[in-house]
Amino acid sequence: MSFIQKVLKSVLPQRWAESMEANSRAWMVRCSCGFAQSVWDRGGIRWKAAGQPRRYMQCPQCGQWSWHTVTRDPSVAPSDQG
Ligand SMILES: [Zn+2]
Repeated sequence: MSFIQKVLKSVLPQRWAESMEANSRAWMVRCSCGFAQSVWDRGGIRWKAAGQPRRYMQCPQCGQWSWHTVTRDPSVAPSDQG
């Protein structure tokens, strides 16, 4: 876990922390090369959010700095939306 994830998990009630992690795992960060990884696995947080933002970051697969799209993975359906 990243620093911010550890901090939030330590301060939030367990139910919120689980909801936060489930939601963050349902959002996928996708590079133009095709590489995709969940927001949570990239050390980020996405919770109680909608839309399709973009993040400028380095891709661990192709190594390029580029705009990554952040999209909700329809195959992952957290039971608790928070
Ligand atoms: Zn890439």
